[in-house]
Amino acid sequence: MAAEHLGEIQAVPIRMCVICRKRFPKDKLRRYVLSSEQVLILDANKTKPGRGWYVCSDQHCEQKFARFRVSHNVRRG
Ligand SMILES: [Zn+2]
Repeated sequence: MAAEHLGEIQAVPIRMCVICRKRFPKDKLRRYVLSSEQVLILDANKTKPGRGWYVCSDQHCEQKFARFRVSHNVRRG
């Protein structure tokens, strides 16, 4: 008999759109991951391993994200 029902708490994780930096429930966002070819691809099921980038459904964000580049040219040493 645990106190499971604590009211209206929703267990939807909040994620931030990488473009506008607003926060949304995860299911309102699209997740992209970096493929082995260093290309951002849509992770439709949001289950792919590795780092993900979340983009909201705003048209401006989608357009900007199309030009979004992951900076992977960081030099070491
Ligand atoms: Zn956005």
